[in-house]
Amino acid sequence: MAENKKEKISELQYIKGVGPVRAAALAKDGIITQKDLLNYFPRDYIDRNAISSLKSLAVKLRQDDLFESKPIPADFSLKNESIVIGQIAESEEKHFGKNKKLLKLSITDGSGGFANIIFWSFTDYYKKTYPAGEIIVISGRPELDSYGRINFHHPEIEKFHPDDEKSYREGRILPVYPMTQSMKSGKWNMRVLRQVVYSAIENQLGTIKENLSDSLLKKYKLLNRQDSFRILHFPDNIEEVGKAKFRMKFEEVFFFELFLAIRQKSSKASEPGIIIDPKSPRARRLFESLPFTLTKDQKKVINEITKDMNSGNPMNRLLQGDVGSGKTIVSLLTMLDVIDNGYQVAIMAPTEILAEQHYHTIIEYIEDLNINVVQLIGGQKTKARNQVLDKIKSGEANIVVGTHAMFESNVEYKNLGLIVIDEQHRFGVAQRGLLKKLGEKSLDKAIVPHMLVMSATPIPRTLSMTLYGDLDVSVIREMPLNRKPIKTKVIFESQLPSIYDFIKDEIKKAHQAFIVFPLVEKSEKLELKSAVEHFEKLKETIFPEQKCGLLHGQMFWYEKEETMKLFLNKHYDVLIATTVIEVGIDIPNATVMLINNSERFGLSTLHQLRGRVGRSELQSYCFLATKENYKYELRKKEVKEEERKAAIIRLKTMEETTDGFNISEVDLKLRGPGDVLGTRQSGLPSFKFLDLVKDGDIITEARREAFSIIEDDPHLRKPQNEILRNEVITQYKNDKLYFDIA
Ligand code: ADP
Ligand code: MG
Repeated sequence: MAENKKEKISELQYIKGVGPVRAAALAKDGIITQKDLLNYFPRDYIDRNAISSLKSLAVKLRQDDLFESKPIPADFSLKNESIVIGQIAESEEKHFGKNKKLLKLSITDGSGGFANIIFWSFTDYYKKTYPAGEIIVISGRPELDSYGRINFHHPEIEKFHPDDEKSYREGRILPVYPMTQSMKSGKWNMRVLRQVVYSAIENQLGTIKENLSDSLLKKYKLLNRQDSFRILHFPDNIEEVGKAKFRMKFEEVFFFELFLAIRQKSSKASEPGIIIDPKSPRARRLFESLPFTLTKDQKKVINEITKDMNSGNPMNRLLQGDVGSGKTIVSLLTMLDVIDNGYQVAIMAPTEILAEQHYHTIIEYIEDLNINVVQLIGGQKTKARNQVLDKIKSGEANIVVGTHAMFESNVEYKNLGLIVIDEQHRFGVAQRGLLKKLGEKSLDKAIVPHMLVMSATPIPRTLSMTLYGDLDVSVIREMPLNRKPIKTKVIFESQLPSIYDFIKDEIKKAHQAFIVFPLVEKSEKLELKSAVEHFEKLKETIFPEQKCGLLHGQMFWYEKEETMKLFLNKHYDVLIATTVIEVGIDIPNATVMLINNSERFGLSTLHQLRGRVGRSELQSYCFLATKENYKYELRKKEVKEEERKAAIIRLKTMEETTDGFNISEVDLKLRGPGDVLGTRQSGLPSFKFLDLVKDGDIITEARREAFSIIEDDPHLRKPQNEILRNEVITQYKNDKLYFDIA
């Protein structure tokens, strides 16, 4: 009975102004109850004090032209969504060919500025609904055309209702909700939506329950939850919106950190680890035979690792270090430690080619140490694979190198003491857990192997704290030797002849060069053809007297290896390649990296590619070639403003810095953490309010608080923490929480 009654209250169609059609449209977006409406937050606000005039907007857009500005502003933004209010001065239809047309609305706002709104589709609808004289609210992305005029292509527009206009003029702030396609076709408009949300607030605000304790609210000066909801929907002023958002951000990240703290605490407390004696004769022998001395950071990290592995608890450590910072040798010394203690180790790479590289590097290093290394990757012949599996099972194999294939359920380890994962950012939390489980099988029931994850994607500390919140973090900042920073320059294709001359001069000094082309072709065959064509052309017309090699993705790994070896042994002066050289190959004598069509590459790829040179004490150079008319090329209609800006920022960033941490920060801003870190599979919740890139301070604070609460009260059993316990259980009911059932 009670159920029934509750359901009825929540039926949106009975709310005044909704009805069945509109209710069905909302249901398509998952909004069924009034409470769902309360959780449907505005994406922006119409606020008289914040809305810019068309005139000032034009000035701002001109200032934001990134190609002109130097250096890149730290707070650049790609999505320059703006809201403006104006009157339609003129409505004009233009016809092209037989049945193509566009609708252009000219907008003025009395500031002396003007803008055009352009619609390519639904032109009849817009023409009829928005005649000249109408006052409208426009939200979208303004662009400056080549004459310096503001254009909006297909923005959201709505008529400014006289009542709304009045309250706007009086200084009231109006929420702007995201309008989905289904809402639009379901007869919703902003004004009705606002009214319905307003009544939902009146009826249902009382059902919003506080989930933070009083002491936290006080300590961090947080608004309570009901106030925050009300303000986010219907603020009295824009300052309080900031406060409400702060509260919601804090709440989001706090419970996630609380969850991480609980998990870390319980795993430290409950899982015994193998105790590894740091005195390892073979690690010492390798250390003493190295052709270089380890950097201070490398030594520091090795110390942190050996301490971890000696502590009696399983190690869970993330090792961050830029490309070329020397993570491999650190992990290898660690592995030898574990092997000398009588355990096996496994090192996993995300791709077969990387696994192969590790395999060969490791074999070279441990040649004289009487250690057995095996390789386990997909696509091995059954017989070979079975032999490898036997060696792993019997314990004859000390080191297993491979891809995720090495953790398939039919792989049995004798006693796996350490799992090393390279390029961690490609694996998620869940996968890490799974690996651990599989490792555990080989040990005594309750013992868990040590885990070292390595990442060459340096990410800002606050982010790594969130993303890898249950890991301890080690960082290698310092590069080996006194490597000189690589000089980087963006060049136009017309300048290529002088770059070729430069390369020839370098070759005269017995140095070598990479010339990279992007993989632009869809099909493998075409791709191969284009790589070969570039190669032939360069070889014949530009470098007839130099020796050129070719490397592309369609070669077998051993062919690539062979080519790289020939290059390494200076059999080639120039290596013409596709991006296959991206992953960790080392040619210390190469001093030039020329990247063609560089505007097509992502920032992290550019950084990785550049990392192929500058690996010795020689001065190295990186040239980022792009089309002459690139600035305008990218302005074509097919290229989104955002893409063009992003390309410019990427290239300029490369010119401005070689620091991987800086670069990754820019990359994060450009692509968002989801794309950069693969957060979807990383176990990171999707936050509605928190911005992982910008909200570092909030993350730090919330994390510190969460961890100290769990340190003090691991199972949240104290009365003052009951409210937190309930919330964390609700939010993470699908995850194992390791709580006592009290
Ligand atoms: P990454 O961290 O990108 O995996 P690598 O481990 O492949 O880097 O190391 C890059 C290169 O630097 C390798 O050739 C390695 O032998 C060399 N190297 C590592 N540590 C040092 C050091 N302390 N001094 C000089 N060279 C080093
Ligand atoms: Mg590496």
